[in-house]
Amino acid sequence: MAFNALVVERDDDGQTSASVQKIGEDRLPDGEVTVSVAFSTLNYKDGLCIGPGGGLVRTYPHVPGIDFAGTVEASDDCRYSPGDRVVLTGWRVGEMHWGGYAQKARVKADWLVPLPPELDMRHAMAVGTAGFTAMLAVMALESHGVKDGPVLVTGAAGGVGSVATAILAGLGYEVAAVTGRQETEDYLRGLGASRIVGRSEINETVKRPLEKEAWGGCIDAVGGAMLARVLGQMQYGASVAAVGLAGGASLPASVIPFLLRGVNLLGIDSVMQPFENRKQVWERIASDLPMDRLEAMIQAATLGDLPELGRDILKGKVKGRVVVDVNA
Ligand code: NDP
Repeated sequence: MAFNALVVERDDDGQTSASVQKIGEDRLPDGEVTVSVAFSTLNYKDGLCIGPGGGLVRTYPHVPGIDFAGTVEASDDCRYSPGDRVVLTGWRVGEMHWGGYAQKARVKADWLVPLPPELDMRHAMAVGTAGFTAMLAVMALESHGVKDGPVLVTGAAGGVGSVATAILAGLGYEVAAVTGRQETEDYLRGLGASRIVGRSEINETVKRPLEKEAWGGCIDAVGGAMLARVLGQMQYGASVAAVGLAGGASLPASVIPFLLRGVNLLGIDSVMQPFENRKQVWERIASDLPMDRLEAMIQAATLGDLPELGRDILKGKVKGRVVVDVNA
């Protein structure tokens, strides 16, 4: 049976183009479990993979979509049966393996996680890779201890930042949200931020390696100069969970905050998490993320909307989470 997929092709000149096409099941990659996909989402990496790939995509034609939620249609693995609700993030699906921007996907059983019964598939994908990563970052901060003072979230109006803000506020932390888009202030306050910090207030090169101790913890989706500056503003012994590089990959930082303030820089990777960690993270999401706040982040999209939205997310123009109904 043919099904719809967003297919990215590359011509002989290396130019890529993305379009919705009908493709046959025989073209699906190898894997033990075939999933009837219900929802996927748009993440920063998807923006790269819809376009020229940014070094992430190895072979064309390619179906992007680094996460999806759906129902098992067929399984050669005893852990899954037809009708089971599953969710997938990571394992380079949507990059090196065809992903969730299609009505069907075929993947390894090891990559899937059963969806917690408290979550429906649309909400699971409103969380998606960005939210899974946000929860990993919250758990990393918790395990190192959050200090006195607000927890800073950078890139707050984006996907990771929005979910991180809602989780932290829901857990009772005072959240200071950094944004370059003043018009998102009401949105961020609605997610639970008690303080809005303009991007320009922080996004400067480090002037002094240590500044006034301001933040009890930080989830940073931006990297670059902003991360470097934030390191010198952390409370003694506080931790920064570094998640992303929307503002740049180079880190023009000093070692002084590590040496004289005992600051911890925690790297967060959502891609290679083993099954038990994934299960635990999804359970924490189901129990700790306020669903009304999650609802406020959702922008609905179809497969056909993705080429344009993919360009927008790379420009930092997407707010919250784009949930893709692959059957719409
Ligand atoms: P989004 O594009 O949704 O959010 C990024 C936000 O960063 C933007 O909304 C904007 O927020 C801010 N921003 C964008 N450009 C700049 C800039 N030049 N300088 C300062 N701030 C900027 O992306 P996601 O939230 O999905 O992902 C964020 C980052 O995290 C990406 O680099 C992504 O690759 C990474 N990531 C990493 C994962 C991991 O496993 N480590 C998993 C998922 C994502 P505002 O307008 O509020 O300022």
